[in-house]
Amino acid sequence: MSTSIETIPFWDYSNTLGPNQWASLCPEFATAAAYQYQSPIAFNTANCLSGSALNSLIINYQEQLFTVDKFTQSIHLVPDTFSNSLQFDNKTYQLQDIHVHMPNEHVIDGVMQPLEIHFVHRNENQEILVMALFVKIGENGPKLPTISWTKDTKLSLNPASLLGPTTHFFNYSGSLTTPPTNGPVTWLLLKDIQTASATWLDSIRQELPCGDNNRPTQPLNGRHVHMY
Ligand SMILES: [Zn+2]
Repeated sequence: MSTSIETIPFWDYSNTLGPNQWASLCPEFATAAAYQYQSPIAFNTANCLSGSALNSLIINYQEQLFTVDKFTQSIHLVPDTFSNSLQFDNKTYQLQDIHVHMPNEHVIDGVMQPLEIHFVHRNENQEILVMALFVKIGENGPKLPTISWTKDTKLSLNPASLLGPTTHFFNYSGSLTTPPTNGPVTWLLLKDIQTASATWLDSIRQELPCGDNNRPTQPLNGRHVHMY
């Protein structure tokens, strides 16, 4: 007798179970990968369209409790309650997860960075919005919060303390970047790149459950990126 319980197969970023193989690992991954607007993408700012002035981004983050966890080949900060939110395009999305990719996944004007942080949000209709923060290495940046990235650590954190200015960003429609790579996902890529010390970045790298965890960039397939 067959069981109705489906288990997600193991995947990673290796040659054998990595991004080029994800779609062949199970039917659910195959269906998700067939969505034609995949993420991440590479683009040039010179080709971006202007965003609508009406679609401003309003971030309502405050201090709350998070638990550090390790799953889906990344380190996650999981909020104890969904009490933080942002507004975009007249919709309110609740912050449900923060996780890291080393190095960056989205590539803007060909520039690579050591870290891209994803702030994953959902709204009441289960629509997903991910805000991405790029982080470069430097010793003269703002004071970033000290975070223990060890699994099961509880910490009180205002996620806004990780961010720089949020006035300017890129917006496009894509997918999740880890299996199942379902879409649509509304992406907001913050234009201002945050600066972190080598020590701060190393503290994440040392706790990452695998090596590099960035999916290669995917075809644009006619998509446009809007710049705000
Ligand atoms: Zn991610």
